[in-house]
Amino acid sequence: MSVNFDDLGNAYVGGAWQSTARDFPVENPATGETIARVADLDRAQIDAAIGTAAAALPAWSARSAHERAAVLKRWAAALLAGQEDGARLMTAEQGKPLAEARAEVAFAASFFEWFAEEAKRAYGEVIPSPFPSKRYSTLRQPAGVAAAITPWNFPIAMLARKAAAALAAGCTMVAKPAAETPLCALWLARLADEAQVPAGVFNVVTTSDAPAAGAAFCESGVVRVLSFTGSTAVGKLLFRQSAATVKRLALELGGNAPLLVFDDADLDVAVAGTLAAKFRNAGQTCVSANRVYVQAGIHAAYVERLVEAVRRLRVGDGRDDGVTIGPLITPKAVAKVERLVRDALARGARALIGGAPHPRGACFFEPTVLDDVRAGSALLAEEIFGPVVPVVRFETEAEAVAQANAVDVGLAAYAFTRDLSRAVRLSESLQAGIVAINEGLPSVAVAPFGGIKESGLGREGGRQGLDEYMDTKFVCLGVG
Ligand code: NAP
Repeated sequence: MSVNFDDLGNAYVGGAWQSTARDFPVENPATGETIARVADLDRAQIDAAIGTAAAALPAWSARSAHERAAVLKRWAAALLAGQEDGARLMTAEQGKPLAEARAEVAFAASFFEWFAEEAKRAYGEVIPSPFPSKRYSTLRQPAGVAAAITPWNFPIAMLARKAAAALAAGCTMVAKPAAETPLCALWLARLADEAQVPAGVFNVVTTSDAPAAGAAFCESGVVRVLSFTGSTAVGKLLFRQSAATVKRLALELGGNAPLLVFDDADLDVAVAGTLAAKFRNAGQTCVSANRVYVQAGIHAAYVERLVEAVRRLRVGDGRDDGVTIGPLITPKAVAKVERLVRDALARGARALIGGAPHPRGACFFEPTVLDDVRAGSALLAEEIFGPVVPVVRFETEAEAVAQANAVDVGLAAYAFTRDLSRAVRLSESLQAGIVAINEGLPSVAVAPFGGIKESGLGREGGRQGLDEYMDTKFVCLGVG
C-alpha cells in the first residue's frame, strides 16, 4: 500500500504541516491496531488556525470565480488520480469495504467538479425599481471564514462537500475532522497542497478535544459560517454556542429514515433498495433506512427475499475481497446496537437472521432482520447506526405515512411502489428533506442534501449548497 500513514501525522495549517508535543492514536476498527498517531492541537493552536484562514481570505475571495474553479478542478483530479490510495487509507482507518471507499473518493471528487462550475454561476440580480431615481441590484459575496466539523462515517466526502462549496464561494476554511478519522482529512489536505490550493485557504486542525474546537469556532467573530455534520445532540450544542456571534449555521444532523414497501412494489427493486439504503457502510449513514414499514399483502414475500439477500452479505475486514459488511466504528457502537436489538426482542420482535455481535471481532455485528418490531421499541426511535433492519407491518398508506412522520427528525425517507399517483402523494406527504422512490441511494453532488425538523438547517450540494457560504448584498443606486 502506497499511502504512508506516518506522513499524515501532522495538522495542516497555513500550507504547512504542524506537529504538536501531544498526539493521539488512530485505530483500525477491524483489527484494533494503532495505525498512526496524529497531532493534538489545543485551543490556542486552533484559534491561531482561524487567524491563518482569516489572513488568507482577502486574496482568495478576490480571485475570480474562474480562477477558483481551476484550483478546485485540480483538487478533483488529484482525488481521482489518488482514488486507490485514498480508498485503502479510508478502509484502514474507518473500516468500510474497499469498493465503498473507492466510491466515496469518487463521490468526494464530484463535489469539487460541481462547485467549480457553480462558482461561475453565483449570480446577483437586477430588481425592477418602482422609482425613476433609484436602481436596485444584489451581489452575492463570500461570507468570510468558514469552519467545518465533520464525522467519521464518510470521512472524505463530508469534508469535500463542505470545502468545495466554501472555497468555490470565495471563503477560506478551517476543518476539524472526527478524532476517529483524521487521516482521511489530512490526506485531503495533502491533495489540496498538490493541487496548489493557496496556503491558508484550507486548513485541517486535528484534536482529541472536540469541545475546544467547537468553542473556538463558535466564539470566534471571524468565523462567519459553521458547517457541522454529526449528531443532533452536538448540533444543538453548537447552535446554542453560536448565538453570541450570530453565526450562520449549516447543520446536517441525525436522521431516522422510514422505508415504506407497498403491496404494489416491484419486489426485486424493493429488496435491492433496502439493501442499499440499510447496509451501506454497515448501516452507519445518516440516511440509513432505520424503520422498514411493509404492507400486509407483500410482507411475507418481502421478508423472505430480504433474509435470503442478507444471508449472502459477507462480514469481515473491509480490505479483504468479497467483504460487504465491515466493522462498526467502535466497540461502543456495537454495544449500542446490541442494546437496541435486545430491547426490541424483549418487546416481542422476532429475529429472522442475526441479532447479536459477530464473532469476527469487538467492532462487528451480525447483519440482522427483526420482524414484528413493536411500537415503543427503542429501535424505532433511535438512530441504529448498525446493520439491523426492523420490520413493522402496516395495512393502509395513511397509517404508514403517519408512522413514518411520527418522529422529531426528517432527513431521508424511502418508498417502494409502482403506483404513480401514490409515488406523487408520498413525495409530498413524507416529512423529510430527501424522498427516494424506488431507489436506495439518492445522494448526488448535483442535488440538495439536508434535513427538515431536527435533522438540521441548510443544504449541501446542488445549486443551493453555495448559498450557505455566500451573503446577498443589496445595492441601492441613486441616479439623480
Ligand atoms: P458526533 O459525536 O456529533 O461527532 C461528529 C463531529 O462532531 C466529530 O468531529 C466530533 O468530534 C465532533 N464533536 C463531538 N462533540 C463535540 C463538541 N462538544 N463540540 C464540537 N464538536 C464536537 O456524531 P457521530 O456520532 O460521530 O456521527 C454520527 C452522527 O452524524 C449521526 O447522528 C448521523 O446521523 C450524523 N450524520 C449526519 C449526516 C448528515 O448529513 N445529516 C451525515 C453523516 C452523519 P470527535 O469525533 O473528535 O469527538
